[in-house]
Amino acid sequence: MTGPRDAPVVVVGAGIGGLAAALEIAARGERVLVLERAAAPGGKMRHLAIGDARIDGGPTVFTMRWVFEELFATAGARVEDHLTLQPVEVLARHGWQQGGRLDLFADIKRSAEAIGEFAGPAEARGYLEFCARAKRTYEALEGPFIRGSRPTPMTLVSRAGIGGMGRLLQTAPLSTLWDALGGHFKDVRLRQLFGRYATYVGSSPFLSPATLMLIAHVEQSGVWLVEGGMHRVARAIEGLATSQGVQFRYDAHVAEILTASGRVRGVKLADGEVIEASRVVVNADASAIGTGKFGAGVAKAVDAVPWARRSLSAVTWAMHVRTQGFPLVRHNVFFSSDYPEEFADLTRRARLPATPTVYVCAQDRGDDDRALDAPERLLVLINAPARGDTQPASEAALAAAEQAGFALMRHCGLEVERDPAREIRTTPAGFEALFPATGGALYGQATHGWQASFSRPGARTRLPGLYLCGGSAHPGAGVPMATLSGRHAAAAVLEDRR
Ligand SMILES: Cc1cc2nc3c(=O)[nH]c(=O)nc-3n(C[C@H](O)[C@H](O)[C@H](O)COP(=O)(O)OP(=O)(O)OC[C@H]3O[C@@H](n4cnc5c(N)ncnc54)[C@H](O)[C@@H]3O)c2cc1C
Repeated sequence: MTGPRDAPVVVVGAGIGGLAAALEIAARGERVLVLERAAAPGGKMRHLAIGDARIDGGPTVFTMRWVFEELFATAGARVEDHLTLQPVEVLARHGWQQGGRLDLFADIKRSAEAIGEFAGPAEARGYLEFCARAKRTYEALEGPFIRGSRPTPMTLVSRAGIGGMGRLLQTAPLSTLWDALGGHFKDVRLRQLFGRYATYVGSSPFLSPATLMLIAHVEQSGVWLVEGGMHRVARAIEGLATSQGVQFRYDAHVAEILTASGRVRGVKLADGEVIEASRVVVNADASAIGTGKFGAGVAKAVDAVPWARRSLSAVTWAMHVRTQGFPLVRHNVFFSSDYPEEFADLTRRARLPATPTVYVCAQDRGDDDRALDAPERLLVLINAPARGDTQPASEAALAAAEQAGFALMRHCGLEVERDPAREIRTTPAGFEALFPATGGALYGQATHGWQASFSRPGARTRLPGLYLCGGSAHPGAGVPMATLSGRHAAAAVLEDRR
């Protein structure tokens, strides 16, 4: 066996963060081996098969195209040569228990008109002010936080400079997203609509800082449909990484990270095989290290996240079924009538909500909402607390939440012709089994309180040679952010190697 310095960089996990790290490290001339416990790349960006239908069972909203353009460029490639991306005009269609239907468009003016008709001219003005504020928030944070390595409050301020400091304070980190939205919208339905952006990072709008309104700007800057489904993004990066010499081994569960003389020296697979590594980049959830899933030797390198600080999990139903009634577009949201209670259930009471909001991704549709005369692919999602490890939801609780969610869709006009043989349900316990040490949390730590963004670990851990990437590391969850975390990990590995 070769010594660790000559051994490859081992990446544990082929989620989007691991793929990005592997691609970039290999593109700079290092040997890279990716070990993935599943049979395919993508992690949460997985495909589920129901008969011949392939359904995206994870992320469905593709944003921040520039992140992928910059990643592909590191390997001298262009996104458009590997993926076919189609911009959407209708960002999402929304329905409410208490009545009303509203489309949000990529074109802000069109959205303002729709909001004016839906809730009156004052709300349309509030929306335009909100968009301007969300844009300022995003611009204040893109350089110092999103693109930069993990900051502390002090380094964030120094990166932003004096002018940027004022802009950072305007992001209102001390008020909650829900309260900030109250300054723009009187209509509670609009507060719900824009508050829902907190759930894009698995958080509650009642506990998240107003800063999260930047997600509204991200979506406003472009949402794309990926031909062949989101899983294609993972496959495209896997292909590109292979062309740069990265080796992939699937069905390879890393059971232990090995150390010698206070630094990483390799990994041991579940079947006992030992693989030497010069450095190890972990794309599994950071808590897997802190809870000892990679052995006692590395457990102190990263802190585990207690369940109360975990982001939300979900119950999802991938389906291939007929629908009628409500004219679905690609992204659809049906809001519960009592948002404060829904999030009190999800966070304080840590139980499935009695009145869940339901997201439906209709994957055979774009902006066109014509009735389909055939079964169609759906991903239906309700939020859930991430207690799949210690307090998995009972079948009765799951059945009650399911009943409430599908009743809400019916109430809003959507009939789903269900067929148990053509559905795959995933619960928080199911997500925990797929992504160990998360409890089913899909987005690492929750972004609750202004300090939360600073408590996520960065690319470097306390143990030399051990690095992190993925949604549980800086800059956070979501496909583009996890991709950026992979790039941060690659930068740290390459810098330390020098
Ligand atoms: C239902 C759902 C909907 C979502 N919607 C969106 C959306 O619309 N837009 C968006 O941007 N984001 C969305 N997200 C979030 C997004 O999918 C994630 O933030 C992102 O994909 C996480 O990537 P990651 O790099 O953290 O890796 P992960 O996807 O978490 O992958 C980690 C990989 O590590 C592997 N692994 C773990 N332990 C080991 C081990 N011991 N040995 C070997 N391999 C191991 C796992 O098998 C997995 O493949 C959604 C997620 C889900 C589940």
